[in-house]
Amino acid sequence: MSQYSGRMVDIKSKNLEELKEYLVSLGEKPYRAGQIFDWLHEKHAVSFDMMTNLSRDLREKLSTDAYISQIRIVRELISKEDDTRKFLLELGDGNVIESVLMRYEYGLSICISSQIGCRMGCRFCASTIDGLVRNLTAGEMLDEVYCIQEHMGERISHVVIMGSGEPLDNFDNFMRFVELTDIGHRNITISTCGIVPRIYELADARNQVTLALSLHAPDDELRRTIMPVAFKYSIEELMKACWYYYEKTGRRLTFEYSLIAGINDSEECAAKLAKLAQPLSAHVNLIPVNPVEEREYRQPYMKTISAFKTKLERCGINVTIRREMGRDISGACGQLRRHYKDEE
Ligand code: SAH
Repeated sequence: MSQYSGRMVDIKSKNLEELKEYLVSLGEKPYRAGQIFDWLHEKHAVSFDMMTNLSRDLREKLSTDAYISQIRIVRELISKEDDTRKFLLELGDGNVIESVLMRYEYGLSICISSQIGCRMGCRFCASTIDGLVRNLTAGEMLDEVYCIQEHMGERISHVVIMGSGEPLDNFDNFMRFVELTDIGHRNITISTCGIVPRIYELADARNQVTLALSLHAPDDELRRTIMPVAFKYSIEELMKACWYYYEKTGRRLTFEYSLIAGINDSEECAAKLAKLAQPLSAHVNLIPVNPVEEREYRQPYMKTISAFKTKLERCGINVTIRREMGRDISGACGQLRRHYKDEE
């Protein structure tokens, strides 16, 4: 589609300063930037024609030089159990992504994708099977929030970047998303498989987002069998980076740990995991693995999961088992998109 040809300006991804520079480059007054920013990020305008406080001349100029990214809901699955909703969203270039909306006591929380596909190759994850298609722009990540917020007619107060993709592999766009969103930084959680240099960069930005680290194994040897990124960065390097993050931001980290039967669910694993979490006071979130059709992994029995949790708790670790939301519509990350693509 021409709007994504790359020649046009992605206006929604610009911050106010850049928008000012852009308008000046078009021969306009910088204050116009504030008006346009408001149209894009407050009123969620979908066309320049809607921006009625701009001159007709400027609107025309913008229409030929820039585009406003847009997203469309193509499928919505609503859980009968707890109102969790899974959305399949179509981007301007026809690619589809998934977002999930969850309702908690504290409000609506959205889980957004940061890339189309993923290149990290985690063995248990459906999003990575076909590799990375492309990064999402900051504007497209915002669109996930705006579009679903509009659809619900209710404000979304929390965002977790835990959908498809590796946010730290799309670092600049992710940082821009954080800069542009009006969701408070403390209400943003980013989940990463652990790209060490980017964890340092994120810490240095001191923007108070919560960092969740997908650990999934307590030693390098085991981690390498399920997460290729573990060949690049050792757990020792990761823990140093986590320390740095904790010290710089004062934010406690979360370790995500997907429990896979017979792979990483032994009490010995729990003991090693406790040793990693303890010094950081990290919270451990256990996720019984979501079976993916293309993969052979299955969830441990509840008894094993409970024993794993108890072992951690006895070591003084704060641990939760991820609440299974919308079980009837769940399916692993990236599976809805895969089915949709197969149907096409
Ligand atoms: N790239 C980011 C975000 C991925 S999705 C990251 O690696 O953290 C968010 C979490 O779900 C990650 O912890 C990821 O490892 C986990 N996950 C992916 N597929 C899963 C599956 N089939 N079952 C359980 N957890 C899964």
